[in-house]
Amino acid sequence: MSRINLTPAATLRQPTELVARGLAPAADLSDLEKVAARYAVAVTPDIAALIDTNDPDDPIARQFIPKPAELVAQPGESADPIGDHTHSPVAGIVHRYPDRVLFKLVHVCAVYCRFCFRREMVGPGKATALSDAAYHGALDYIRSDREIWEVILTGGDPLMLSPRRLAEIMADLGTIDHVRIVRIHTRVPVADPTRISAEMIAGLKVKGATTWVALHANHARELTDKARAACAAIIEAGIPMVSQSVLLRGVNDNIAALEALMRAFVECRIKPYYLHHGDLAPGTAHLRTTLAQGQQLMRELRGRVSGLCQPQYVLDIPGGHGKAPIGPNYLSHANSFSDAKSFSEDREQHAETRYRVVDYCGDVHLYPPKPCDD
Ligand code: SF4
Repeated sequence: MSRINLTPAATLRQPTELVARGLAPAADLSDLEKVAARYAVAVTPDIAALIDTNDPDDPIARQFIPKPAELVAQPGESADPIGDHTHSPVAGIVHRYPDRVLFKLVHVCAVYCRFCFRREMVGPGKATALSDAAYHGALDYIRSDREIWEVILTGGDPLMLSPRRLAEIMADLGTIDHVRIVRIHTRVPVADPTRISAEMIAGLKVKGATTWVALHANHARELTDKARAACAAIIEAGIPMVSQSVLLRGVNDNIAALEALMRAFVECRIKPYYLHHGDLAPGTAHLRTTLAQGQQLMRELRGRVSGLCQPQYVLDIPGGHGKAPIGPNYLSHANSFSDAKSFSEDREQHAETRYRVVDYCGDVHLYPPKPCDD
């Protein structure tokens, strides 16, 4: 499991390189060296080219360029914020839900996101990939549990593996009858789109199962022409794509940025899937929003874009309790609100509970409507 093609040499990995390129202030260098000693840094040429060095608040830079604030952990932050370890029955597997597992093949990425919830587990200083023994142990685990319908390849970034190694892994998964879906979570199509070769795409297919690719991107500018072409090549090979994004302060926590991102996904034939609330990873408080802000943004998004463009806003419950949808609630029992009193007589004659439902403008309606409203 060691056949990893690392990103070419021009990827920036040292704070000195970031300062020399004008991507980080020289005054921060000493702190950034401390950050880099703890958490991996990598900025590919494609991502570096997207950063506006004249904008101190550039939303691409905020995702990839380290900050001294990362040295400060807040109460509640944790090295394993979503409880991977507590649900790992064998090395490389996280089994949280009955019908699916995470299969963590590699611990390296093309870029290292400053908000990463696995930041303590990924990077060149960690084990780069599963050993052969651990890989076969993980496959045996998947094979032994017939309830496992979906295998989610994650990491690290599985598309850091060579096309040939990916094809071998897919062939191994193809021998397990009950595995019907293989989902690959990746940032490579935006971070290093030239890696998405015809050979790699061919290697993503699994005999007897369906491959899905989930693209991680957080700002519409990440969907460059090259990134769009890489995604189009995947989709045109018959592999459907969904998106996952993280709600990040100063990146996409305003309605214009969020709307542009979701529209860009749909234009690329990528269905918006998840908008994650920022996890409690150490040193990431400066990038997190509040839940209330996230809910307000989701309300505004519903009023502005079609259902195709709506992701599900989710929170990974700390401790490993899984994801919970945390978007705004549009439905509530009318009898829990004072306005229901005026309908009490009607309600007595009405067998069904009456609800309040909020439309996309924020106006409230009763369901079912009063007879006189019909
Ligand atoms: S690509 Fe994914 S695993 Fe890698 S640093 Fe970014 S969020 Fe973490």
